[in-house]
Amino acid sequence: MSTPAPLRSRPQTLTSLRRWFDAGANPATPGDADGDRLDVVRVVPFVAMHLACLGVFWVGVSATAIAVAVALYVLRMFAITAFYHRYFSHRTFRASRPVQFAFALIGASCVQRGPLWWAAHHRHHHAHADSPLDLHSPTVHGFWRSHVGWFLTRRAFATDLARVPDLARYPELRWLDRYDVAVPVALALALYGLGAWLEHAAPSLGTSGMQLVVWGFFVSTVALFHVTVTINSLAHRFGTRRFETRDDSRNNALLALLTFGEGWHNNHHFFPGTVRQGFRWWEIDLTWYGLRMMACVGLVRDLKPVPAWVWARARR
Ligand SMILES: [Zn+2]
Ligand SMILES: [Zn+2]
Repeated sequence: MSTPAPLRSRPQTLTSLRRWFDAGANPATPGDADGDRLDVVRVVPFVAMHLACLGVFWVGVSATAIAVAVALYVLRMFAITAFYHRYFSHRTFRASRPVQFAFALIGASCVQRGPLWWAAHHRHHHAHADSPLDLHSPTVHGFWRSHVGWFLTRRAFATDLARVPDLARYPELRWLDRYDVAVPVALALALYGLGAWLEHAAPSLGTSGMQLVVWGFFVSTVALFHVTVTINSLAHRFGTRRFETRDDSRNNALLALLTFGEGWHNNHHFFPGTVRQGFRWWEIDLTWYGLRMMACVGLVRDLKPVPAWVWARARR
């Protein structure tokens, strides 16, 4: 006998609410029949983040606010592409434990969940790219599901630790994966404090606490989010294919510029084991340049190159 829907949904709603603060609350059972439906309790804060961007009409704008928003976009896009993607998901270079944690923290400030969740889902994507099992294939599930819908479902919520045993052995990363929401909250509070201090210490800058929160946190984070997920929704649809892969991945120069190199996505799907995603000298890959600079000063090491055999398989 099946349980009536209202009795079943109330505990699920409470669980979803707890997960706003504790991603480890009631580890999900993704097999349930509603797994692919959007979880309204998770949609609400996502929509609220977008509406908060409208705060620009109340708080105004200043050069300081724009500079903070751009700087946080650049730093956090680098954390996502260099560390969440090329380091945690693909292990294409090595880093010390403090550097690993520092960039995991910066990555968590992007409101794209914790590093274990991100890497586990991404490894699943590579294993099943553009098959029905791929949660964010645009060719299978359409644009909106691949862009935003997939991670707002109950099925996508849990972190599949079986996919990331190499990362799960670090207790500090498991803690961060569980309480990831603390990091963006701390960033927003810090921005408020900075703006409020500048309002008194340097009034000529024309900024304020709420202005830095709206521009530095909400506008920057929403832009960062949508640009990041174009790699799911657009880089499997629009662009050229240098390599014959089982998926529909494409190389797209515009997306590569916006995402600091991730747009060379067909290169990446063909050989994800290299730190580079732009394979040719003219394929601009800002993340790779940044990692080379970090390697020069000893912050990272063992950057994995593109092997010679890969070129033999290239169309051009
Ligand atoms: Zn892909
Ligand atoms: Zn990848």
